[in-house]
Amino acid sequence: MSNNHNQFVKLAASGVANLNPYVPGKPVSELERELGITNSVKLASNENPLGCSPKAIAAINGELGEIARYPDGGGYELRNALANKHGLSSSCVTLGNGSNDVLDMIARVFLGPGKESLFSQHAFAVYPISSQAVGSDLKIAPAKDYGHDLDAMAKMITERTSVIWIANPNNPTGNWLGSRELRSFVESVSSEIIVVVDEAYIEYVEEDDYPDASKWLSDFPNLIVTRTFSKAYGLASLRVGYGLSHPDVADLLNRVRQPFNVNSMALAAARAAMEDTDFIRRAIETNRDGMSQLVQGFDQMGLEYIPSVGNFITVDVQRSGPEVDQALLREGCIVRPVANYGLPNHLRVSIGLPGENARLLDAMKKVLG
Ligand SMILES: *Cc1c(COP(=O)(O)O)cnc(C)c1O
Repeated sequence: MSNNHNQFVKLAASGVANLNPYVPGKPVSELERELGITNSVKLASNENPLGCSPKAIAAINGELGEIARYPDGGGYELRNALANKHGLSSSCVTLGNGSNDVLDMIARVFLGPGKESLFSQHAFAVYPISSQAVGSDLKIAPAKDYGHDLDAMAKMITERTSVIWIANPNNPTGNWLGSRELRSFVESVSSEIIVVVDEAYIEYVEEDDYPDASKWLSDFPNLIVTRTFSKAYGLASLRVGYGLSHPDVADLLNRVRQPFNVNSMALAAARAAMEDTDFIRRAIETNRDGMSQLVQGFDQMGLEYIPSVGNFITVDVQRSGPEVDQALLREGCIVRPVANYGLPNHLRVSIGLPGENARLLDAMKKVLG
């Protein structure tokens, strides 16, 4: 945890001295140790409750004999497969140790002291962390109905704005921007400003008007689209994600990329997972069903929630979220308090399997009385 009594804080880079670290979901093993139970339910980190494709597991097994060797630092095969999937050249692909790694590379390349990083209130926590760590100024646009207010964001652009971050859909709020709205915003932004569209949850989105911004790359050389294998593909632990951009942008990102940032098991698993479209279809169905189960439960309890197109939903528990979170932990349920996102009375719940969702709803009924 950050604290002001740290004797070395005066030696740290100025952005780091005031940085609040990312707060991850509590690991199952930790809660079970604390409570002495073995049947906790973790709906806290937007992980895939189905696990991952068996083809990915087989691919990992196939790599085990070679773990003494460094992985392919260029990620040749995965980059080619991703380029094919998106109809782009492999020179447009930047591999990351999770897409957070790509977000961090973007900050290191395009931000720094004297530059401004622009994003929305309630936006994904990695944008401020990566931006502040390199010493840039944070500009936070007010949200509208918990979502991005693109007009408000446009008004906050200055000659120092260097990167604009947009998660579509956003985490932790789950709301999304339509095609016309997002595209006209990107069009309105100077090509001297990098626009990041973070599509971590794209596989789950079923709305007709939801845009795949990677289709716009040829129109906007300043656009970077990020994707991940952590969510629908169920490979969160392996840490693999990627950025898609103009080759000149990818060239700069790859200059700061750690040479072996994606390990050989992650490279192989991601490639195998891409091919298992059946698994993704099941993940989407499970998510759709679980979302309606939770929404029905919240409706019955008279709780309001932010309509979400992701694999999670953020619900207003009408009292201190962190307190309700503690009470739910005692019932063996791990969810995510989002007070640090400016949502003190909300909890973010990841969509689980039917039994997990039911456990959580029961625990919420008990805790909220
Ligand atoms: C989960 C998430 C990511 C990706 O995380 P990685 O595991 O690092 O790929 C990126 N952006 C958003 C908005 C997310 O919720």
